[in-house]
Amino acid sequence: MMARKAVLKVVTPPTVQDIIKTLNDNFLQCRDFGHQWVGYSVRVEKRRQLFHETLRCAMCNTRKNRLVTRTGEVTRTTYTYPEGYLFKEYGPFTKIDREAIRITVIDNFLRGKMPEEFMIKGDKA
Ligand SMILES: [Zn+2]
Repeated sequence: MMARKAVLKVVTPPTVQDIIKTLNDNFLQCRDFGHQWVGYSVRVEKRRQLFHETLRCAMCNTRKNRLVTRTGEVTRTTYTYPEGYLFKEYGPFTKIDREAIRITVIDNFLRGKMPEEFMIKGDKA
């Protein structure tokens, strides 16, 4: 009897271009320029004498969480990202990846594909 050959499914890792296609305009803006922190709240934890600060990004809704002592020292910072923002299977973006994202934002603007709410009114290129 012949042994069956094991079938190994080949998986091609995603490229940055694959990832860019899945990012909405808000995610592209945050990936290029960084988050725009606007929303803020703080919760007091009396037992441990700590403040739990939360900032919210106006563009993508990412939350930045800081744990602050009563003297103002930040002891921990964590982020809570919206669905579709992170690509854990891809790993951190490289300089070249960030350049590809940046040129996509510029290209979207020049092709008139950027949402109007992102554009500065009255400015001429
Ligand atoms: Zn953001």
